[in-house]
Amino acid sequence: MTETKKQVDTLISARWIAPVIPERTLLEHHTLVLHQHRIVDLLPDQQAILQYQAANHFELQDHLVIPGLVNTHGHAAMTLLRGYADDEPLMDWLHKHIWPIEAQFVNYDFVKDGASLAIAEMLRSGTTCFSDLYFFPDAVAHAAVEMGIRVQVCVPVVQFANAWAQSEEEHIHKGLAVHDDFRSSEFVHTCFGPHSPYVVSDAGLKRIMVLSEELDMPIQMHVHETREEVEEALATTGMRPLQRLHDLGLLSPRFQAVHLTQLSSEDIHLLAENSVHALHCPESNLKLASGFCPVGELLDAGINVALGTDGAASNNDLDMLGEMKTAALLAKTVHGNATTLDAWTTLKMATLDGARALGLEHRLGSLEIGKLADIAAIDMSDLESQPIYHPLSQLVYTRTGHKVSHVWINGELLLMDRQFTQIDQDRIIATTRDWQKKIAEK
Ligand SMILES: [Zn+2]
Repeated sequence: MTETKKQVDTLISARWIAPVIPERTLLEHHTLVLHQHRIVDLLPDQQAILQYQAANHFELQDHLVIPGLVNTHGHAAMTLLRGYADDEPLMDWLHKHIWPIEAQFVNYDFVKDGASLAIAEMLRSGTTCFSDLYFFPDAVAHAAVEMGIRVQVCVPVVQFANAWAQSEEEHIHKGLAVHDDFRSSEFVHTCFGPHSPYVVSDAGLKRIMVLSEELDMPIQMHVHETREEVEEALATTGMRPLQRLHDLGLLSPRFQAVHLTQLSSEDIHLLAENSVHALHCPESNLKLASGFCPVGELLDAGINVALGTDGAASNNDLDMLGEMKTAALLAKTVHGNATTLDAWTTLKMATLDGARALGLEHRLGSLEIGKLADIAAIDMSDLESQPIYHPLSQLVYTRTGHKVSHVWINGELLLMDRQFTQIDQDRIIATTRDWQKKIAEK
C-alpha cells in the first residue's frame, strides 16, 4: 500500500537551518514546509520527500536559512537623503541639513518613493519586517503593502508644524485615521511615534498614553540619544527624560525606547521594572558620536534588546546583517567582555527579540510550526565564507548582507538568486535619480 503524500505550496531544503527556537540549534539537511502563508512542518530532508508533494521545491545546498530579519527602527523615506550630509554632530545635522531639506521636499510622493527604495534594499539584505517613524506614514504603509513586506508604521507626533500636520493634536488625529485605515491589514501594524521627549508636550504624551492603552498600540520614541538631550532636560524640567516619561505613565511593555546611549543605573532600573523594550541602533550612534548603548548591562538586567538600522541618512545603509556584526563587536568592547552578545544571541536579537519588541513574537521571528513563513536564505558558497566550521559565526562576523539569495514573506517568494520576483528595480533606481537631481539642484 502506498501512502498519499500531502500536497503543500513550498518546500525549502537547506544545508543549514537556524530556527532561533529551539535556541542555539543548527539543523542540517532539513526541510521547511510552507502552506497557506505559514510554516507547517520542519523535518529531515528524507522524511520531507516521503511525506510532502509541493508545487515549488527549493534545494538550497550551500545555504543557511534563518527567520526573516526584523529592523525595529528607521526612517525609510530618508534613504533619499543617503550621503546628503555626513560628518556632523546630531543637532547640527538635524538643524542645518536634514530639517531644512525636509521642510522643502517632504510630501506624500517623497515618502512613498523613499520608502520603496528602502524596502527594496531591506528585502535584498534579508529584512522581512521593519518599523518606520516618519511624516506621511500612510505613504510608507501603502508602499509596504504594494511590495509585500511587513511594517510597523509609527505615526509621528511633534509640536512643530510640517508638511504632514500643523500641531501635536493634528498629528494624533491623522495618526488615528491611519490606524483605522489599516486596522484589518495583515502587513501593517500601527504604533505612536512621539519623536523624542524634547519635541512633545506633557499633555501630548498623556493623550498618547491613554490612546495607546485604549487601542493597544505600542509607542516608539527616541530616548536618551545624546548627553546634551539629558543635560537640557535636567536644566529645563529638573528631571532626566526617562524619569519624566515614567512620571507621565508612558513606560510599559508597550514602550519601545530607541538609542538609550546615556543611562544611569536608575535609568536601567526604570526600564527593567516597566519591561520597556530597548531598540539598539549601533551604527547610527557611532556615526553621530551619540554614545554607547550598554547592551551587556541591559541584557543582564533582563531587558529585551532589539536591533535597528535607523535611517539611511545616519548609517548609511539598511543592512541588518551588517548591523548585527557592529552590535556584536561593540557590545563586547563596551561591556569589556568578549563573551557578550555571542553570534546566537545576536541572531535572536535581530529576529525573535525584534518581533517581541513590536508585539509580534507570537506570529514572527522564528522558524516554528504555525508561524508566518517569513524566511531568508544566505548563500555560503563563496570564497569569503570558507572554511565553514560554524555557519553562525560566518553569518554574524563576516560580511553577509550581499549574500542573501532568497526571501519569502507570508510564504511568497520575493527574492530569488538575488533577483526580485515582483519589484521593478530599474524603476526604483530611475525614480531615486529624479529625486537626487531635484534635491541637489535646490
Ligand atoms: Zn531614528
